[in-house]
Amino acid sequence: MVSRVIPVDPFDLIIFGGTGDLARRKILPALYRRFWAGQMPPEARIIGAARAAHDDAEYRAMIRAAIGEFVAPEKQEPATVDAFLERVRYLTLDARGDDGWDALCGMMRNGVVQAFYFSVGPGLFGDLAERLHRHGIADAESRIVVEKPFGHDLQSARALNATLAQHFDEHQIYRIDHYLGKETVQNLMAVRFGNMLFEPLWNARNVDHIQITVAETVGVGGRGDYYDRSGAMRDMVQNHMMQLLCLIAMEPPYAFESDAVRDEKLKVIRALDPVAPGDIVRGQYGGDSGGPGYLEDVENPDSLTESFIALKVHISNWRWKGTPFYLRTGKRMRARTSEIAIVFKDPPHSIFGVQERQKANVLVIRLQPNEGINLRVTIKEPGPGGMRLVEVPLDMSFKEALGPEAEDIPDAYERLIMDVIRGNQTLFMRGDEVEAAWAWTDPIIADWEERGDRPRLYEAGSSGPEDALMLMHKDGRRWREVKA
Ligand code: NAP
Repeated sequence: MVSRVIPVDPFDLIIFGGTGDLARRKILPALYRRFWAGQMPPEARIIGAARAAHDDAEYRAMIRAAIGEFVAPEKQEPATVDAFLERVRYLTLDARGDDGWDALCGMMRNGVVQAFYFSVGPGLFGDLAERLHRHGIADAESRIVVEKPFGHDLQSARALNATLAQHFDEHQIYRIDHYLGKETVQNLMAVRFGNMLFEPLWNARNVDHIQITVAETVGVGGRGDYYDRSGAMRDMVQNHMMQLLCLIAMEPPYAFESDAVRDEKLKVIRALDPVAPGDIVRGQYGGDSGGPGYLEDVENPDSLTESFIALKVHISNWRWKGTPFYLRTGKRMRARTSEIAIVFKDPPHSIFGVQERQKANVLVIRLQPNEGINLRVTIKEPGPGGMRLVEVPLDMSFKEALGPEAEDIPDAYERLIMDVIRGNQTLFMRGDEVEAAWAWTDPIIADWEERGDRPRLYEAGSSGPEDALMLMHKDGRRWREVKA
């Protein structure tokens, strides 16, 4: 398979928060990998900006170290790293003050794509937008990239949208949800809309239920303070899992174009039913020899924030009425895994007799680890002696199916940043989508806050609280095993 790398237009990418954790671990290594792959034109420039005083040489040394740490060794030829670093500059700048803005103004070039990456705390998004405008730095085609979290609830998300809208048009705003940049997530659309096989079955008549699991083995670690104000519902469900749910449930868009796709996603969010308290299970991990429990991690013995959530969601529309979507995500679980499982209904009648009950087909889309797609089908066990049925997986690991090219699946940030430069918003959330997601999430959170709902304790290294298993058992279903 031949890779087709088409260089993007020349650009200036300004990374506010260019010395931060996200810039160091994700954004700059992703840019380097695109440079290595030949996608970055020679005229492209990257300008890191933050308050700390550094010169270009110090900043380049920091990035060299980040590349050393986060890029595969075989891509680190010294000459390529040097050539990349030549494109990098640093600017001391304060998002809340006047320092650095005139200098930034003087650095901007005409005739290239301008993108401003807001890799700073959300409290600074408004300041940055306002100053970019006031100093005449951004023009009508400049793009801004906004990191998560996008608001804490509907009110704050609306306020943030309104602030950004004072200075930028919606077509200039790129709200990142890095899940949408994952190769398999886009493959979900390719599988659904590029084949005849699945789409006719993709509805409540044929699908028994859908499970979406995002399990992490790590705890909240150094992010305890932030996480405790957020919790699994805000940190994972309102954004990442909601986006996955939308891509599974949406109607076929008329084209793979940004507003066509986002219109369909929005319709799904608006069709979500409120969730009954009995259909939600919240949990907090306990401590063990592998590490402290949630309450110790966040240093708040009274915390009622969930590090795990499982919920049953219904979509009220013609396609999905009656088919539940079970979502589950948590920290310090048994394995690090993300997958979507479409569990089809049992065949209506078995011609092979009661003992040979056919099992339902299951289509599993694995996001991590080992991205791929697996379809479980029933076949006859080989050999004489009657008709015995067995289930076998039709397994398509991308690495196996596509060869060495697929060994090198680009990181979500690589695709998303290049999409910003290309001006393609398809894989970014629109403002109304984010608000609709919060409008669904807010009453759920308000209800448990009002009741003082206490998360159930679950064992670190498990698949979550016992009650989460019951959530499915009482419907006669079971979760898929959490395994890597
Ligand atoms: P971080 O490590 O705390 O870095 C913050 C950056 O912002 C630093 O470069 C800091 O440098 C700069 N900064 C702070 N105040 C500033 C000001 N007034 N003017 C200009 N620059 C300022 O944070 P992060 O983890 O990189 O996160 C950045 C954003 O990405 C946040 O919105 C976060 O929620 C989001 N995010 C992060 C991750 C992640 O894995 N880290 C994942 C998803 C989303 P100075 O202090 O020198 O100014």
